[in-house]
Amino acid sequence: MYAASTFILKATSTCNLRCDYCYMFELADRSFEHQPPVMGSDVVDSTARAIAGYCAKFRQPKALIVFHGGEPTLAGQGWFRHAVKTFRSQMPPGCTTSFAMQTNGVLLDDAWVDLCAELGLSVSVSLDGPPSVHDSQRVNAAGAGSHHDAVAAIERIQRHAGMEHLFGGVLCVVNPNEDGRTIYRHFRSLGITNMDFLLPVEANWDHPPSGFASPTPFADYLISIFDEWWSENHPKVRIAYFDSLLRLLVGSRVHSDSLGGDPLTMIVVDCNGSIEPVDSLRSCGNGFTQLGLNTQHDPIERAFQHPTFQLALTGQEGLCQTCRECELRDVCGGGYLPSRFRQSNGFDNPSVYCTDLMKLIHHVAGACTHQLTGSSQ
Ligand code: SF4
Ligand code: SF4
Repeated sequence: MYAASTFILKATSTCNLRCDYCYMFELADRSFEHQPPVMGSDVVDSTARAIAGYCAKFRQPKALIVFHGGEPTLAGQGWFRHAVKTFRSQMPPGCTTSFAMQTNGVLLDDAWVDLCAELGLSVSVSLDGPPSVHDSQRVNAAGAGSHHDAVAAIERIQRHAGMEHLFGGVLCVVNPNEDGRTIYRHFRSLGITNMDFLLPVEANWDHPPSGFASPTPFADYLISIFDEWWSENHPKVRIAYFDSLLRLLVGSRVHSDSLGGDPLTMIVVDCNGSIEPVDSLRSCGNGFTQLGLNTQHDPIERAFQHPTFQLALTGQEGLCQTCRECELRDVCGGGYLPSRFRQSNGFDNPSVYCTDLMKLIHHVAGACTHQLTGSSQ
């Protein structure tokens, strides 16, 4: 049986920003047009019941409930109080449940930070780098950049007495027009010790990345960050993407949606209760993630039988021939599922970032080997 442990709730289907790479609003999928702007309390209740029922039935030892959007803070503080209270009252006693929120930070004032601390919510903020990078894509409807607001939100969290449990770190979309070192140094200058990097999901074989001088611009960006991080060698600075990569290189299993190729462990519930697989698959076509299932009348596990959901479950067995024969298969795992897509043959392809992934993995493996060889002399 599929073991879902991360449940992403679309608290809203609206946003106060207009990021040009956003898979919710700016790519192929238009399903947000048919969603209520905020998940209703009846849907929160049915979703908590469905997730709690699933966790009880399959004896899930832990569950992470992630409030997402759109921009989740637009749902309001009362909504969050109700949602967390409802989940806490429904989840089975044997299942350790934690809560997180992914926000753009624009509305995250002190009252929000206090509320998140009170509710035991870990908050991650989206930040793409210094203003020259962040504000080139993460803008509001008037075209104004949001870097100032995102950094102000991070500083509020950092000032809070409960900061250690409160701050989930920053999530950064890779933008190879900038040197990765600049991005890393900017984050470190803000005192950020927990960060993750995401390859843009809008790229697939129908829309491959273009316009870069280097044949491996994404690897070059990530390698420059890796080298900076590796040489800083600060025990408290964590980069989730590199942590996963290093663990995979030494043969550990990692539940990552972008490396390793293990079956995914997440379920998405949209604002109207629609049960869906990985939401970034929205980039593959309009309505792509719609399964016709809803927490108001379907158990969560019914989704696992659906052919679209099966894509996320097959793991390495679902890889194309090229990936199956690749020496890096166990580490790369074909990369992130949406990046393998092509309209004509679905996901039967390597990642559109294949060349970048190969270069990055060889570089990281080389750095480890060099360190081990050096320390044994
Ligand atoms: S803040 Fe997030 S949801 Fe809003 S437009 Fe940007 S990427 Fe999309
Ligand atoms: S995407 Fe490329 S590097 Fe990754 S497993 Fe497939 S062939 Fe190998």
